[in-house]
Amino acid sequence: MNAVRLPRPIVNQLLQLAQKSPDEEICGLISRDSRGFRNCYPVPNQAGDRKRFFALDPKAQIDAMRAMRERGEELAAIFHSHPDSPPLPSLADVEQHEYPAVLYLIISLGTKGVLEMRGFHIHNRTIEEVPIALQEGPVR
Ligand SMILES: [Zn+2]
Repeated sequence: MNAVRLPRPIVNQLLQLAQKSPDEEICGLISRDSRGFRNCYPVPNQAGDRKRFFALDPKAQIDAMRAMRERGEELAAIFHSHPDSPPLPSLADVEQHEYPAVLYLIISLGTKGVLEMRGFHIHNRTIEEVPIALQEGPVR
């Protein structure tokens, strides 16, 4: 499978969001337009146990989707973090993922303080890893 090219400013934003929340999963949406990945839309995590789970706040998700439409963007990826587990989809992640065409990005703060991010497509409970390539320079 071809690598997905993620602009470095978006990657940096994701890593910073995850780093600022070492005890709770962070989550949100990433948009794309005809030129590629465009904007990051953090969404509050409204899960009951935010150390181990995430749930996109429904109202904030609707607001983010509306902002994308108004900018001519579409949903490209859903991201969340794993404060203390590897960047691999959990059973809950696989079961709750509703968008097979959307990239599923997981940022891990790692057990050794090393940030890591991996991408997946999840469809009918099948997990397929999508390689991620850093695109240097600003978001075009
Ligand atoms: Zn997860």
